[in-house]
Amino acid sequence: MNYQHVLCAVDFSDESLEVGKRARDIAQKYGARLSLIHIVEDVNISLGGGYELLPVLPDLPDEALLQEAQTALEKLAQQLEVKDIRLWVVNAISTKEGILGAVQAHHADLIVVGSHGRHGLSLLLGSTANAVLHGAPCDVLAVRI
Ligand code: AMP
Repeated sequence: MNYQHVLCAVDFSDESLEVGKRARDIAQKYGARLSLIHIVEDVNISLGGGYELLPVLPDLPDEALLQEAQTALEKLAQQLEVKDIRLWVVNAISTKEGILGAVQAHHADLIVVGSHGRHGLSLLLGSTANAVLHGAPCDVLAVRI
C-alpha cells in the first residue's frame, strides 16, 4: 500500500508529539501528504434543540476554543519540523464523526491516532481510537502509548 494522505488526529495530550512524529515518519517514507487534525466537540450540536429541562448551559467560547486549538496545532507542526503540512481544526458532534468526516472530505488513506489519550489508560484501546477503528474506511494506526 502506497499511502498518499496521512491524517494524524491529536488531542494535545503529552503523547501528541510522539503520535505526530510517527505519522510524519510514515508520510515521509511514502511521500504522502500529512495533515494534523483536532476536533473540538460541540456541546450545542450534540444536545440539539428541545432540551428545555436541562439547566441553562453557559455560552461556550466556541471561537476561543477553535483559535486555541489552531494555535496548538501550529505549535505541534513546528515541533515536527515538516514544511508541507495541513492543519485542520474541526467543530463536530463527536471526535469520531469529525475525524471520519475529514477522512472522507480530504481523501485520507491512513489515520494515525494514539492508542490512548486524555480519556485514561484503563482500556486496551481508548474510546476515540476504538470508535475511529470501527468506523474507518481506511487503515488506522494506533500508536501505542
Ligand atoms: P482516547 O481514545 O480519547 O483516549 O484518545 C485516543 C487518541 O484519539 C488520541 O491519542 C488522539 O490521537 C485521538 N483523539 C482523542 N481526542 C481527540 C480530539 N479531540 N481530536 C483529535 N484527535 C483526538
